[in-house]
Amino acid sequence: MVFKDSSTKRLSMIDALCRGKSAHLAYCNPMDRIAVLRFLLAVMYWCWKETGEPIHRDGIPQAWVNYLESSANYFEFMGDGKRLMQKIGLTRLRPVSELIHEIPTGNNFWHFNHVRDYTVGICTHCLVSSTLRLPLFFVSGRPNLKSGINGSPPIYAVRWGKNLWDTIYLNWKPREPLGNPIWVEPYRFNPEDDVPLLSGMTVPARLLHIDDPIPCNKSCSVCGEQPGYLHYTCKFEAAGNLENSIWRDPFELRPAEKAIKASAITGSGKLKYDVKHHRLLPQIIDSLSIESGSKILLVGFAVDKAKYVDIWERTISIPDRDKAEDTIEIIREWDKLIKRSMANTYLPTKEARKNRARKLKESLQNDLLPDVDMRIAKLLPELLAGRLAWEAISNEYYNYAKTAAKTLSNGIGTKQIMDRSRIAYSLPRAVPSTESESSQGGKS
Ligand SMILES: [Zn+2]
Repeated sequence: MVFKDSSTKRLSMIDALCRGKSAHLAYCNPMDRIAVLRFLLAVMYWCWKETGEPIHRDGIPQAWVNYLESSANYFEFMGDGKRLMQKIGLTRLRPVSELIHEIPTGNNFWHFNHVRDYTVGICTHCLVSSTLRLPLFFVSGRPNLKSGINGSPPIYAVRWGKNLWDTIYLNWKPREPLGNPIWVEPYRFNPEDDVPLLSGMTVPARLLHIDDPIPCNKSCSVCGEQPGYLHYTCKFEAAGNLENSIWRDPFELRPAEKAIKASAITGSGKLKYDVKHHRLLPQIIDSLSIESGSKILLVGFAVDKAKYVDIWERTISIPDRDKAEDTIEIIREWDKLIKRSMANTYLPTKEARKNRARKLKESLQNDLLPDVDMRIAKLLPELLAGRLAWEAISNEYYNYAKTAAKTLSNGIGTKQIMDRSRIAYSLPRAVPSTESESSQGGKS
């Protein structure tokens, strides 16, 4: 947890919840922030269900604290008895580092940090957060290893408050049936079943049993601490096919039938649109019933089957004044407009197009568009408040188009200069969707 004076401290679950008004979750990987918040929210729904005491805005109700203290046995993480999100009797031996996506496995050498399986140890604290990641998702692979109830992970959107308790309060949206969390009742649902909220929020993508730690004076390969003993191995097995098409994760962004996923940026040169703020924003505003002045944490994991490709996070601040409705409409159309404009960034002759255009365009878009995207993300609060004209956004694209024009059409002849200027001014325009199809048609 991180406190208001920037100090940090490891706290037990009950301590963290009790001090939730003065501290917030502190994890360097945004995946952990989502996973731990999702777990704590499930714990709070469970306390609410079991005690009947409603949620309080100013902190965790005492009845919930008492209930948690009396139920401590459910949350044992080590020892011979029942353990949280672990199962006795498994046999598939794996290095414990497999639980941490940031640590590559032995045959994956595209990393600065080379490791050999079974040689790096991890402390018990770090294994708690990596176990809590399991209900969120795990990369799929053989044999029958599936990615969990959400399938390949959706983009998660969470309302992010000033502290942990505010964040739990802001995301408080229980829905019936609540059912039971995994620590109370084993998961027993088929992929076509209607899964109760607490079962779906807590079912891990794998069956796990962490082997006891071994005394050693090495550092934990995640946090660097030297507790005097580290874990090296675990039993890690498939949990069956959990992916469920009826299940709706409380944090996923889902505009229609399909949840929005992060794109795998390393596949087929698609770096240009890995973080689609402009496309996501209308869905966020629609689906989270956002109030003015709030903050949204967006987290996307890009995966490619067995590969964990990328993770990104963005925080979007909703302005404290009323939103400008026509701006939202423009943002809705934004993605289409940009695609059309990009299609307009062409090489002047057919021959040149054939030879160079596609690769050059891809390279320009990969290098420059993510940069434009970041600049525009910074302008979003102004745009949402209606304080920023579309032209200001267009100017950011103009810099991109100008650079693209110089590369695509060099030379000093009249024709080259004209081509350059046509490319440089091929900017996305703000036009309503009804007239855009007929009048714009690729030109702007
Ligand atoms: Zn550690």
